[in-house]
Parts: sequence; structure tokens; C-alpha cells
Amino acid sequence: MITRNLTKLSADILDVLVIGGGAHGATIAYHVAKAGYRTALVEKNDFCGATSASSLKILHGGLRYLQHLNIKRMRHSIAARREMMQLAPYLVEPLACMMPLYGKGLRGKRVMQAALFLNDCIGWDRNRDLPAAIRLPRGHIVSEKKVRETVPDIDGEDLHGACVWYDGLAVDTERLILEYVLGSMTYGARAANYAEATAINKGDDDLYQVTIRDRLSNEIHQVTTRFVVNASGPWFEKSIQASQKKDTKQKWALALNIVSKKKIFEKYAVALEGHTQYEDRDAIIKRDKRLYFFVPWRGHTMIGTEYMESIADPDCLQVKPEMIQNMVDGVNAIYPPAQLKYEDISFFHAGLLPMHSKSEENNIQMEKNSTFFVHTHAGFSRVLSVKGVKYTTAPHIAHEIVEFLRKQLQLESGIEKLKDSHVTAGQWNSDQLQYKDILERKYGQRAVRILSYMQNEQKADIWIDEASELLKAEVSYLINEEMACKLSDIVLRRTGLGTAECPGRSVLEKLVEYMGGILSWDEARKGQEVKEVLQRYAPLVF
Ligand SMILES: Cc1cc2nc3c(=O)[nH]c(=O)nc-3n(C[C@H](O)[C@H](O)[C@H](O)COP(=O)(O)OP(=O)(O)OC[C@H]3O[C@@H](n4cnc5c(N)ncnc54)[C@H](O)[C@@H]3O)c2cc1C
Repeated sequence: MITRNLTKLSADILDVLVIGGGAHGATIAYHVAKAGYRTALVEKNDFCGATSASSLKILHGGLRYLQHLNIKRMRHSIAARREMMQLAPYLVEPLACMMPLYGKGLRGKRVMQAALFLNDCIGWDRNRDLPAAIRLPRGHIVSEKKVRETVPDIDGEDLHGACVWYDGLAVDTERLILEYVLGSMTYGARAANYAEATAINKGDDDLYQVTIRDRLSNEIHQVTTRFVVNASGPWFEKSIQASQKKDTKQKWALALNIVSKKKIFEKYAVALEGHTQYEDRDAIIKRDKRLYFFVPWRGHTMIGTEYMESIADPDCLQVKPEMIQNMVDGVNAIYPPAQLKYEDISFFHAGLLPMHSKSEENNIQMEKNSTFFVHTHAGFSRVLSVKGVKYTTAPHIAHEIVEFLRKQLQLESGIEKLKDSHVTAGQWNSDQLQYKDILERKYGQRAVRILSYMQNEQKADIWIDEASELLKAEVSYLINEEMACKLSDIVLRRTGLGTAECPGRSVLEKLVEYMGGILSWDEARKGQEVKEVLQRYAPLVF
């Protein structure tokens, strides 16, 4: 069974300690452990609780990188997307993306037809070993009529049709990262959430002492490791600064998506041009507007992404009502028939991403490539920092880091590996079969692990909330086997219950009662847990 155990995590000398349990840290821990190194992963909050939870959930194949003629980057993206889809097919769906085409030239049919053809050629192996249900079809051009059916009342002047291509939609980005964390543990890694790396010190014999604070118990643990991988996202300079007192150099932009209760488009993620001028400085084939995607998801529409320069501390990232209102106004300017109102917004995604520069005209250029680098200052030559710009390509950086380690570090044998617990047997009996679909949709093959918890529940009292399809047994499983420690872990990162909108106070209260029973929470703690979850939806109206 997989458990959170910081004493065990710090018991032996590690080969690699990974700091940060977002897309990069989790995929790195997985691949490094799979390669046979003694690995541990520490995350100061919950896994996938920061930038990686804020993505627009598109696993890109990199069609847009054709603008930069960057085939290498496309290949990395396609391979990384396929890996994510293979690892957890139950969490990913093909996403049909539609971009209306106007006039001739770069925005016309001929150029886009050629681009789609190239995209399919470059991604010839995009579906290798993927289950049939999630294979990505070829791109194609659709008629003007089809566009008008999909995007009613679209600005029609010079409209000729649309190009359609397919990417992956990570329906539950948070569980997808958790799959990597749990997967790393089956390869022998140790992992803990609510475990913060507070200092990195160089010891003797090329070893580092990393101080870890257990944020649940306040206990301090010392971890000894040969290498440190700092994958702490927007904290990446801060995590090192604590030990190095270096100045911050990286510029950041706050990236924002809004989630609307209104279903704006049904079957397609529609890409529409923004209303302000934008020039991508690196593009060889230039467009003059940034694209905004309207992505159908969980019966809602995600819309994004907007970028604004930010000097915010990532620990205190705040989205103000005016930022949401600006986006709502922007959407209405891009697509007036949406008639979006502030009250339609049920959730938002915000995170800090590495920014390259900002022009006088407020033209924000984001950094384009994820990288990692080895620190060169004295004593830190075995500390690597990751600067990640995409969720999709995180596995690619993980592979590069494994390659780097292979050149530096001899493998020791004898890593204790757990059996891949999610595929261990479990038989659905006739009473349980009615829950099979619900559970497999959420947990894939791990659903069978929930059966033993189901046996402990009274048949007549099996639900926490039937309308939300939330079973008591699954919550017990998540606490015992997936390190769910707080109400927000279940609501926002294990079940998807509250990722599109607030599940409502009564559901939260039933859930906190049940969790409190297992985790011995008193009334004050339960109140605090509910308050913390509700804060995630401020400043929205609900
Ligand atoms: C609005 C938005 C839309 C996006 N859309 C897409 C998209 O559609 N497709 C795509 O591919 N990408 C997208 N991205 C980009 C992508 O989400 C990010 O590039 C990626 O998730 C960054 O992952 P990360 O692991 O580097 O950072 P994070 O997810 O921020 O992870 C870093 C982790 O480190 C932890 N940490 C920090 N300090 C410490 C410490 N001292 N000790 C322990 N842990 C620590 C943090 O708590 C955090 O969980 C989007 C981003 C945003 C914000």
C-alpha cells in the first residue's frame, strides 16, 4: 500500500531528491525511479496544486510550432503527449480543435491544408500503442456551413471554412500528475505531499543535506542525497535562494483562464482570434493576433489564455475581480454571441509562467522552451533546476534529466519495488457492479482498490452525496492510499468534484464530516477545511 511516510523517505541516502510535485517534478520522479535510481519527491502543498492545476488541459501536439518551423519541438511534444495518454488513458480524450479560416494567404484554406498535412506527417506515430478510443484522427478542412453551425453568428466576412485538428484533452490534469506520483512509488520512489524543502546544504563526499519540513506535523527531517532536482515551478529561484541568497532574475507573467457555466460551443474546442494586436517575435510565419481557445469540458467551457506581467509572490497569487471582468469583456469582444456575464464564471485557473519580455505596446512574449540547468556556483554542481513552460512536455524534460544522470551516476542495484498495486486483483460482486462505471471513469484500473473499502460500508448508506456520485468507500481509499490529507485534496485534486465549480456547501459539509471521522478532526478543524475550499472560488459569485 502507498503511504505518506517522511521518516522512511529520509531513512536512506538517495540518488535524487526531486523538489516540487507539479507536472515536472512528478514526471521526473517517475522516470528517474523507473530508470532505477533511489528517488524521493517532496511537494510543499498537495501534488499538482499549483501551476499544473491551472493549465487549459490541452495536451498539445505542437501544430502551432509549425509557425516557428520548429519540428524538433513538435516531435518532443507529440512523444510527451503520447506518453501521458498511454499512462492514464482513462483521464484523456481526443479534443477536436477548430480554427475558422478567412481570406487567402496565411489565414486561408490552402496554407492550412498544407500545415495539417505536415502536422500529420510529423506526428505519424502519434497513436502508437494507444487504445482505439483515444487515438487522434488526422486533421482536415471543414466547410463554411459547418463553421457556422458550430460557431453560430460568427463574424462572417471573408470566412471560407475552418481547419480541424486533434489534440489530447486531459480531463483531470490533477489526477494525471498523481498517476505519475503513484507510478513513481511503484518503481520504489518515496513521495510526500505537504513536505517542504526549506534548505539545501552541501555536506561531505558530494552529498547534500536537504531540510524537509512536514507541514502537517511541523516535524523536521533531514534528507541526504547525491543529486537535487529543483522542479518547484514559479518558486524555482526561491527554493535555491533560501540556500544561495541570489537575486531573482526570471520575469514572470500571470496566465489566466476562466471557466464558464455556459456551454458556448458543443463538440469543438474553437480557436478565435483576440481583439488586440499581438506579434510573436520568434514566429517565422506571423499572425497578428493571439488565439483564445474555448474548450468544452465537464459540461462547462474553459476559455484562455490571457497573459499579464506579474511580480506576485507565487505563495500569494491573487486573481482580482477586475481581471476576471476584463476577460469576460474580452470574450464578448471576440465572440459577441457568447453574451458572457461575470456571474457565469464558475472557476478560474491562474499561474505564473516564465516570461521573456514585454514591449511598450504591452505585447507579452512568453518563454518558448522548457529547460533544465545545472547550477555552477560553488558546491551546487549536483543541483539541477527546471524551468518548465508547458504541462505537455514535462515528460520530455524528465527523459533529458534521466539521460543527464546516466552520464553522472552509476546505478546501484537492489531498489525495493512495490508491486504495481493498481492492477492487483479485485472482483466486482453483483452489488458492486452498479458502481463500476462511475469508479472506473474516475480512477481507471485503480477502481478495484476501492472494493475492499466498500465492504466496510452499510449497503443503505454507501453515498456521501449521490447526486455528485461520491461514495464513502472512494474517500476512504483516497485517504488511505492516495495521500489525501485535506478536504481540498479530495475536492480539487483527487475526484474532480470541485474543479469546474464549487460543489456547494451541503456536499462539502457531508464530505468533511466523513473525512473528519477518519482523520479525527474536531469541529474547528472541519470548519477550517471547508473555509479553505470555499476560498478557492473567491472572488466568484456562487
Ligand atoms: C492558465 C494556464 C494555462 C495553461 N495551459 C496549458 C495547456 O493547455 N497545455 C500545456 O501543456 N501547458 C499549459 N500551461 C503551462 C503549464 O501548466 C505549466 O508550464 C506547468 O504546469 C508547470 O509545471 P511545473 O511542475 O514546472 O510547476 P508547478 O505545477 O507550479 O509545480 C511546482 C511545484 O513545486 C512546489 N514547491 C515549490 N517550492 C517547494 C519547496 N520548497 N518544497 C517542496 N515543494 C515546493 C509547488 O507547491 C508546486 O506544486 C498553462 C499554464 C497556465 C497558468
